[in-house]
Parts: sequence; C-alpha cells; structure tokens
Amino acid sequence: MFTYDEAFTDSIFEYCRDRLEHDAPLDFGMHSPIPLPHLEGLISEEGRSAEETLEFFRDHLAEHVVSIDSPRFLAFIPNAPTKNSLLFDMVVACSGLNGTSWLESAGAVVAENQALEFLAARAGMPQGSGGAFVSGGSSGNLSALTVGRDVGRTRHPDIAPHELRFAISADAHSSIGKALHVLGIEPLLVEPDDHRFTRVNLEKALANDPHRETVIGVVATSGTTNAGIIDDLEGLGSFARENDMWFHVDGAYGGGALFSSQRELLAGIRHADSFIVDPHKWLFGPLDCCALIYRDPSTARHFLAQQAGYLDVLHGGDDDHYDWNPSDFAIHLSRRARGLPFWFSLVTYGVRAYESATQAAIDLAQRAGDLIEAREGLELVRPASLSIVLYRRVGWSEAQYLEWSETLLREQIAFVTPTRWEGEMVARLAFLHPDTTDELVNQILDSMFD
Ligand SMILES: *Cc1c(COP(=O)(O)O)cnc(C)c1O
Repeated sequence: MFTYDEAFTDSIFEYCRDRLEHDAPLDFGMHSPIPLPHLEGLISEEGRSAEETLEFFRDHLAEHVVSIDSPRFLAFIPNAPTKNSLLFDMVVACSGLNGTSWLESAGAVVAENQALEFLAARAGMPQGSGGAFVSGGSSGNLSALTVGRDVGRTRHPDIAPHELRFAISADAHSSIGKALHVLGIEPLLVEPDDHRFTRVNLEKALANDPHRETVIGVVATSGTTNAGIIDDLEGLGSFARENDMWFHVDGAYGGGALFSSQRELLAGIRHADSFIVDPHKWLFGPLDCCALIYRDPSTARHFLAQQAGYLDVLHGGDDDHYDWNPSDFAIHLSRRARGLPFWFSLVTYGVRAYESATQAAIDLAQRAGDLIEAREGLELVRPASLSIVLYRRVGWSEAQYLEWSETLLREQIAFVTPTRWEGEMVARLAFLHPDTTDELVNQILDSMFD
C-alpha cells in the first residue's frame, strides 16, 4: 500500500491533465443515459487492479456527476476553480499537511492567514481580524454563531441560555436556520422589505417583540443565494454595534463581490463580529473551502479551542504564534489546509485577475437580463442582482420548467434548475465561470420556445 507505482501514478496524472486541459464535460448526474453500475464485489479481501478501478471510475461513475466547474453549470451556486488552485490542491493532497496547529504546520498556517487577512482587509474589518478556513459556509456559519451565542450568554447571565435569540431575515440561507437549530436557539424571524433585510425591519420587529432583550445577535446576508440580494449591512451592523449585539455577515456566495465594482454595497461588513465567504464559490477555488473571519479571534479561541492533555503542547508558551492554531477557531480539530489552493491562486494571478473574473459574472448577468427583457414571452422576475437572474416563461407550469431543465441537461447544453420565488416556480441563472458565453445564454433562452 505504500509502494510507489510509477505507471499508475502516470495514469492518474494523465487523467488529471485531461481534466485540466479541457473545459469540463457537463455530464449527467442522476439523469445519465447509462445506468449506474453495480458495485457489489468491488471491495474484496485481495484488492483489485488500480488501473482497472480507475477505468471503472472513468467509464461508469464519472459521468454520473454533473461537473460543477463546467461553464455550462448555472444551477445553485457553481464553482470555477482556477487552474493554479486545482494544481496546488494536488500539492496539498500529496504533502501530508495537517493544518491543525501552528506547531505542526506553521508554514501552511502563515500562508492561509495571509489570505484571510487579505479578505478581512478587503471587507474593511480591522487589523488583527482572523480565523480559519473551514469546509463550507454551513460550517462557518455554525462556528460563528456558536461564538456569538456564547458571547451573548456571557453578556446576559440573567437570561436563561435557551431563551437567547438571533434576529434573522426570512430570506437568510437555510444553513443559518440549521445552525440555530443545532445550537438550540430560536430565531427572531424578521420579514424583510422586498427580500432585503434592513435596519428599519429589525427595529420594527424588536419594537413589536415582548422579549426584545433576549435578542443577542443579528445575521445579515451579503448576497442571498436565491437572488443575489445584499441586506442593509451598514444599517444592521451599526444597530448591532450600538446595542451590543453580535453581528454576523453570511457572504458565502456574494462575498466574492468584494472584488467587483459593487464592492461599495458590502462596505457594512466592516461592522461584523464574524464574516464568512466561500472561496469555493465566487473566489475561484476548489471545493471545499470557506473563509471564517472574526473581528476578535481571541474570543472565538476562548469559546472554541479544544482542551485535552495531549493537545496542551499546541497552546503552550508565550509565543503569540500559538494563538494562531486554525483548530481553535471552529468546530473542528484535524483539518486539511484547504485555504492553500486559494492562497496560491491569489498570489499567482494577482488581485486584478480576480477583479475581472468576478466582474465578468456580474456583467453577464446584466446582459442576460437585457436579453430576457427583449424577448416576448419572457419576463424578469426582478432586475439581475450580483450574478443571479430570476425570470419566468410566461404561462409555464411547474412541470414545464422541470422538463425544460432535464432536457437541457440531457442534451448537455447546460445545467439550469428552477427555483421558487414568492411561491411561484421560476427560472434561475447563477453565473460565475468567466468562460460562460452570451451565446450559451441565448441558446438557453431559445430552448424555452422549442
Ligand atoms: C452556499 C451558501 C451557504 C452554505 O455554504 P456551503 O459552503 O454550501 O456549506 C450559506 N450561506 C449562503 C448565503 C450561501 O450562498
């Protein structure tokens, strides 16, 4: 198991080279025309040839996965890792890096921290902000809200812990509700204005709430996943600050706009106690990666660091560097140094390349909006926001949207899935990959009239 096999190593590199060289094939997910193979017997006492098993994967399993990095993937939130981020991910995979602690992996942590500091500064958070890369937005939100809850408990020892609440918008990401569920905390669910959560909404909700003193934090979204809407970060953040509430900003998707011409709209992140953005979304890194950043990392460390006899060495000494164990900032211990591919990509391509790649998706969303408006039978549900476009084919039933989506995938034109907006099924395009073309958008719009 630990013997180097040169020929098989070449086969793997060849496979990876092929994926890197060409646009990812869209492939099919569950809608593949070939049936999923039976896997019985593959795991055996004696093992099986590596070449044959790679072939089996290539021929029978790979096409059952829709490639999220295809420029034709416009569903959910796509992923468009840069070439260098993918290549460096292979370096991380082969390097035995455990990104848990400063003691073990200072060389990885210092680079990851540079990337986090860069993001924090872009977001206007003060010097000294920091945290760790975690597996995704859901995990980042959970860790951040855990710290926010614990700070709230400390500030309000008079309130029963289970009565503490966070104010969240009805349009917050599903992972926020899930995190509160895990934490045993009820939300104060605020109805936003046309899906945008504002300070006025929050003040009104609190004024009408008989237990407003139990609301110890506010969660804002900098780019809703469904529609790309940016909450009133400035208003909500200043309100939270004035009222000693924890302010968390979920920028898992839209945080990427910190690199775009719309950066101004994100200025209110400077008030955040905690902020997340997923490099695996709009910062062009590979799955799975979320930057989790605290205004005051020492508070996060206080509540989240794991203590055990065998871990004491990680926290020892007067050296400030011991304060920078990535394991201390989230609900994890062992961790892949998953920030390194993003760091390598940012270092090698430079900020300007990030800015133009991010802007390309916003510009394409605007042009797609224009194309939709110009067509009889199509209607924008609302103006394109960030890189997301919601629109309807006038008169279509839900079955028609679903069949259209499946046909586009079957014909390998695009992966586009409908969403629900104010109860109605509508079409949704989420742009991200700079290689997605206007021609493809036109082809998708045409396909609604076939
Ligand atoms: C995608 C997303 C999440 C969840 O992130 P994962 O990386 O999928 O766990 C949370 N919040 C927002 C706004 C998102 O777009």
